[in-house]
Amino acid sequence: MLDMLMHPAVSGLLVMTLFGALAYKLHFVDISGLISAFVVGFTIWYTGGVVSFVIILFFFLSAGIATKMKYKEKAKHNLAQEGKGKRSWKNVFGSGIIPMMFSVGIHLTGQFPDLAAAGWPFLMFGGYIGAVATTSADTLASEIGVFSKSKPRLITNLRRKVPRGTIGAVSLLGEGVALFAGLFIGVIALLFSFVSPNLVPAITTTEQLIVLVPLSVLTAFIGCNLDSLFGAVLQNRFVCEICGAVTDKEFHCNYETKYIGGFKTFTNMHVNLGSSGMGATLGIILGAGLFVWILGGLFFWIVASSSS
Ligand SMILES: [Zn+2]
Repeated sequence: MLDMLMHPAVSGLLVMTLFGALAYKLHFVDISGLISAFVVGFTIWYTGGVVSFVIILFFFLSAGIATKMKYKEKAKHNLAQEGKGKRSWKNVFGSGIIPMMFSVGIHLTGQFPDLAAAGWPFLMFGGYIGAVATTSADTLASEIGVFSKSKPRLITNLRRKVPRGTIGAVSLLGEGVALFAGLFIGVIALLFSFVSPNLVPAITTTEQLIVLVPLSVLTAFIGCNLDSLFGAVLQNRFVCEICGAVTDKEFHCNYETKYIGGFKTFTNMHVNLGSSGMGATLGIILGAGLFVWILGGLFFWIVASSSS
């Protein structure tokens, strides 16, 4: 009986039923979001193991809580998620599909002794952490950053102060939250590796353990800022003729907004997919230990250019 419960397919179904019911009860997701979260969560539990699941659970719960934080106040200033803050399948797949792919990658590369010996599962794990860290940092920074006391600035022109909720707006509070999200995810992975290494099969060497937290913090920070940059440059944007805010919403201050730029079919979901893909790529590069070469190259470039 216990053996059967321990099988990842059975335990995964149980765990997902429990957290699915909780997420639905707390109004974190609507029905479509619940079904897609079930698919994403179960696949990650089954392929990436408990540590990968706990990492995406951190994202899911913290994003849910941050979205609900002072929701009425956000709604009053048109800063809130639509649908009363409930995430739909678009949100769930937008933030979950890339981590899910890398989770499957961890599992598949672990099946081949050659690939496993060459450290492929860890590269996939690096990609996984990079994607989740980027998405978490971006979501938490936007949901909490809007409470910044000082006005945010535009990422493409840091001297320009812009209204809260503007696409591509960044604040010190948001940047701090992004760093913290990355740190938290790195520490979760590190704790699991210390307490129960067999739950983190992707990690086999001490170097990989050392890289874990810097990888998570860096991907969160860089990925989150790339997201703001992609948003500011590519995303479709509208201006509110009442308050002057530049948003991705077609209605603001109860009036229809005016289209002013960006690619019309390029929405926030595309921006998120792009940035979590970049975060994942960066995670693989850092996981491969290539950041030593990048930093080294940068160092020599600076030395060379300053001496000439
Ligand atoms: Zn407005």
